[in-house]
Parts: sequence; C-alpha cells; structure tokens
Amino acid sequence: MRKKIIAGNWKMNMTPSEAKDLIRLLKDGCNTDSSDVVFIVPSIDVTTAAECLKGTQIKLGTQNFYFEDKGAFTGEISAKMILDAGGEYVIIGHSERRTIFKEDDAMINKKLKKAHAEGLKPILCCGESLSLREDGTYKAFIEGQIKSAFEGVSEEEVKNTVIAYEPIWAIGTGKTATADEAEEVCKMIRDCIKAIYSEDAGETIRIQYGGSVNGSNAKELFEKLDIDGGLVGGASLKDDFIKIVNYKA
Ligand code: PEP
Repeated sequence: MRKKIIAGNWKMNMTPSEAKDLIRLLKDGCNTDSSDVVFIVPSIDVTTAAECLKGTQIKLGTQNFYFEDKGAFTGEISAKMILDAGGEYVIIGHSERRTIFKEDDAMINKKLKKAHAEGLKPILCCGESLSLREDGTYKAFIEGQIKSAFEGVSEEEVKNTVIAYEPIWAIGTGKTATADEAEEVCKMIRDCIKAIYSEDAGETIRIQYGGSVNGSNAKELFEKLDIDGGLVGGASLKDDFIKIVNYKA
C-alpha cells in the first residue's frame, strides 16, 4: 500500500513574512496521517518555514538545486544547503525549469543522481506539451523523459523517487486532465519503471498527478489506482490546499 504524497509548489510566491502567514493558515488543517504533506517553498523561505513547521509532520522542500557541492556557481544552491536548512524534498525537472531555464534531460539526470547521493528526496516532473498530446506522441515522449532521467539510478534510489506527471497544458491553466487521462499516463509511467527495473520498483514508486488540482477535483484524481497524490501549484497558496490534502473527508 503506497502512502499518498501531496505537495504544494509555491513557485516564486511568498516572502518569508508571507510564508509565516500562509503556514499559520494551513498547518493545523492538513491531515498528515494518511498522506505525506510537503510544502515546496522558495529557497529563501526554507529556514523560516522550518521554524514555523516545528512540531508538525508537514515536510519541506525546494523547487530546484544545483548538482555540484560548492563553488563558483553564482545564484545556485546545493543539496547540503537545503538539508541543513531543514528541507527534505526537491523538485527536479519542473516544466517551468525545462522551458524557461532551458534545463535539459542530461542536467535533470545529474540532479536526480546528486539528490539521491546526498539523501534529498526528489520529485521528478515529466509531462507533455499540448502539441504532443494532440499529435498522439505524448506517451513515447514521456517514456523518453523517464528513461533519460533514471539513467544510472539504482533500484533502491528509484523506489525513493516521487514522479509527478504534469501535462504542461494543464499547469496553471485551470484545464485539468480528466481522472482517466491522468490515470492512463501514471499507469504507463509505472509500467515503464517495472520494465526498466522490476515489478517491485514499479509498485513501490509514488506517482503524483499535477495540473490545476483543486479542492473539487482532488478526490476523483487521487482515488485512481496509479495516482499517489498530487503536485499542486496555484491552489497550494490558499486554504483550498487543506481541502486537497483532506480529500477523503
Ligand atoms: C505546478 O506548478 O506544478 C502545478 C501543477 O501548478 P497548478 O496546480 O497551478 O496547475
């Protein structure tokens, strides 16, 4: 039985002071018994957020990091910095990083391996554009993203990875994939992990859906067999996030 994991990706929102207010609003309402709940905050908010979340089971993460240990990489942060500040998870390969910041498959693979080497828990994003969805090549494209991201990653590490299937056309658009569309791809990703690694790895890895998840559609999505929770953008910045986390209630 896989435990659900519901993560809020705050993106470039919330100053440290605003983060305090948002955490105050959300922390007591989120039921962490049946799901892992993670706040994925801007890096500059991690220390403040860690302080505010003391005494709760809510986990913290960041939206990016660099795969080197230290040195002349102006503007970047390392895995060790995140861990030391109280972060536990990191998003790798979000479509906004891939498109706006030109992160390619090779870099994403390096980041995935480094996160595991340092004990940071990665949430690896994949997903197709609208044109790939429409021309029918989306499954092959996503399979390619998965194969390249996991090159050189061990079976044990795969089991400790979370994959987020996020169709780009559904991110921030209000256009959610139907539960059946999301399930189809999450199952395909699971089968892909089984084919590369083993039945056990495929059954163990947690696969989220992301793309305009909200308090009204979370239940239908998260009840699907191969959807182990969600990566939530816009709705993680308001109290609707509590409804998403407590979707069973
Ligand atoms: C995201 O940024 O990962 C995301 C899914 O955003 P939204 O929920 O706003 O579509």
